Amino acid sequence: MTRGVLAAIGALALVGCAPRNEPKPPPVVVTPPPATCGGAPMRVRFFDVGQALSVLVELPDGRAILVDAGESPKRPGCGAPCAAWNDHLLDGVTSSLGGRPIDLLWITHPHSDHLGGVPELLEKVAVKAYADNGRDLDKKPVQRARNAVVAHGAKLHEIVPGAKSPLPDGTGLTLRPILPETFPPSCAQGDANDCSIGLRIDYCKSSVLFTGDAEAAEEALLDPGGPVTLLQVGHHGSETSSSPSFLAKAAPKYAVISSGKPHEGTNATYCHPRKKTVEKLDQVLGGQQGKALRVFDGAVSCKGAGEDHWSDVPTSDRLFATARDGDVTLVTTGDGTFVRK
Ligand SMILES: [Zn+2]
Repeated sequence: MTRGVLAAIGALALVGCAPRNEPKPPPVVVTPPPATCGGAPMRVRFFDVGQALSVLVELPDGRAILVDAGESPKRPGCGAPCAAWNDHLLDGVTSSLGGRPIDLLWITHPHSDHLGGVPELLEKVAVKAYADNGRDLDKKPVQRARNAVVAHGAKLHEIVPGAKSPLPDGTGLTLRPILPETFPPSCAQGDANDCSIGLRIDYCKSSVLFTGDAEAAEEALLDPGGPVTLLQVGHHGSETSSSPSFLAKAAPKYAVISSGKPHEGTNATYCHPRKKTVEKLDQVLGGQQGKALRVFDGAVSCKGAGEDHWSDVPTSDRLFATARDGDVTLVTTGDGTFVRK
């Protein structure tokens, strides 16, 4: 990184951010919606970006939030799949927004499959504000992303425990960072997944919760702010997330898994989603029996595992998966339900 870029980063105004040593975040309190609330659509679009995550939330008042930006098209060893995922994301975001800017780009944690696509996104779409957890600033993908943020003039926000949302609430809308009071030891020990910064959006009687790749250690410390209508399934449906106690707290009605297809690109070494996780989600979601989903039996290692460790299991019709369903767009009018469009 050049001296000029470092100086530019140092000069950034961290608007609306809590100081680093904020003692405790306030409890998550969601204001009850007014009696006449909702009507306008809120769209939540999970892009099929393979073994990665990127979700566009179009708020009912016209503002837009993108949670994570998918994988870098240049990830070493990934090649064509990663480039195709990034192309799909850029096409999807630009067509959805039709020239409007992204009001907030929220990066859950600094892994390549979540912030790798930031530089390419910023080349295509105006972004007003960018938020991350302020960690791993010596890592190349983080530097690429932050340098692009500086170059394109987006406001940079570091979200730490106690921080408020960089975007203000709106009519019938509340936006809340979902972080533990302190991150679990695994976060400081190098597990970036357990440093994920979550985001909860409430719109009248509907809500959506993103937790990035938070695993069981972080989930145990999270207050999701009560039951949630729609859940982004943690860590691509891995067995290391979606702990029973967390699912009991969040009690989602609908859930979406964003992962690669079996053997596709980087999912060849992760084998997401896992059978046990899908079974747990099925129990929590209820609903009718829907289409089968191809899942991996986590009793064996993904490395070198053959096709016989993958199987098709029937799932709830309230569970969606990008590997099976492609892009998943769920729409609510604030009435506590989501409908797929
Ligand atoms: Zn991930």
